Amino acid sequence: MNNAEIKAKGEKYCMNVFNRLPMAMVRGEGAYVFDADGNKYLDFVAGIAVNALGQAHPAVAQAIAAQARQLIHASNLYWLEPQVQLAELLVQNSDFDKVFFGNSGAEANEGAVKLARRYAIYKEHPERKCVVTMKNSFHGRTLLTLTATGQDKMHLGFEPLAPGFKYAQYNNLASVLAAVDEATCAIMLEPLQGEGGVYPADAEFLQALRQLCDERDILLIYDEVQTGMGRTGKLFAYQNSGVCPDIITLAKALGGGLPLGAFMAKDKVAQAFKPGDHGSTFGGNPVACAAGLAVLNEMLDKDIPAQAAATGAYLKERLGEMINEFPCLLEVRGCGLLLGLQLTIPGADIVKKCLERGLLINCTAGTVLRFIPPLTISRAEADEFLQILHDVLTEVCA
Ligand SMILES: *Cc1c(COP(=O)(O)O)cnc(C)c1O
Repeated sequence: MNNAEIKAKGEKYCMNVFNRLPMAMVRGEGAYVFDADGNKYLDFVAGIAVNALGQAHPAVAQAIAAQARQLIHASNLYWLEPQVQLAELLVQNSDFDKVFFGNSGAEANEGAVKLARRYAIYKEHPERKCVVTMKNSFHGRTLLTLTATGQDKMHLGFEPLAPGFKYAQYNNLASVLAAVDEATCAIMLEPLQGEGGVYPADAEFLQALRQLCDERDILLIYDEVQTGMGRTGKLFAYQNSGVCPDIITLAKALGGGLPLGAFMAKDKVAQAFKPGDHGSTFGGNPVACAAGLAVLNEMLDKDIPAQAAATGAYLKERLGEMINEFPCLLEVRGCGLLLGLQLTIPGADIVKKCLERGLLINCTAGTVLRFIPPLTISRAEADEFLQILHDVLTEVCA
């Protein structure tokens, strides 16, 4: 089938919830993807920050194939070797002691909230059920994580929302202090807001939240679904500020493109869970974990977070130069290879024109171009991206 045929069938049979571009992606190689009509694109979306090692990575493909031949699924009624190996490697390379695997970012965040409520009971504060999250955040699309997401436009029409959430202003300690009360069990935030428009948290804000949580013995939860796994130039974004949360959630890049999410906690928190408290049929699936193990081993062997930091610094500098050149550009934000370019105009037209020139980028929050390529892109690929973007900006807003 070609692009048009696949699109026509999709419109007939798939629920109409995504704003999809008119191409069907059928193949990938490194930082490039190909559509069903044979067009080639430089991929600065990477499956929404999922394909950290690019497409068709040999070690990941090999791990998936080998595990699929050996054991695809057996359930968490038994121990699973790829799952415990991945848990060990995550613990050894972070400040956490225990891991729970699920299938997505939303499921990871739900699990983190469940653990926070159990921890409150365990610490003899059963009245603490509430989680304070940030305005403009994004935590997922299930009813609970949709509620946690501090964006009214996503709530509209899905009421009644889950009880137990309050919202505070990001990077505003006074606003958090006003939201935290006797009913609060946790504060949950992204260390760098991705979907909301690429806004980093101030180090002082994070330090103050850490102190507040310690004073009240409530939990600090970082949603690192997008920022985790090398994206911001460290394996986890919390390692940039040095402010460590009590619970961290992961997904996107964790499974090398297979559905895999996780949350991790220190022992003192994780011990609040007892057998039967949480679960997931597919969570920690052997194939997904074998892929995750291949991804993490590759990241550690080749120091891919450092590559992301270097390429990201280069891109940020070059994008900064463009700000002076084009009046429609306001600011570059973000770090590593999670970069946002704030526009004064809607970004949809720029996304479309980049697409026509063979570059995939994404626009978030209406006026922010988000660049989230594979962490492994070469300098030549970075320059190809800059050239296409420059050409399009010259056309649109010189
Ligand atoms: C993508 C994302 C989620 C949701 O992940 P799903 O796998 O789509 O459920 C949650 N939090 C953040 C920060 C994300 O970027």
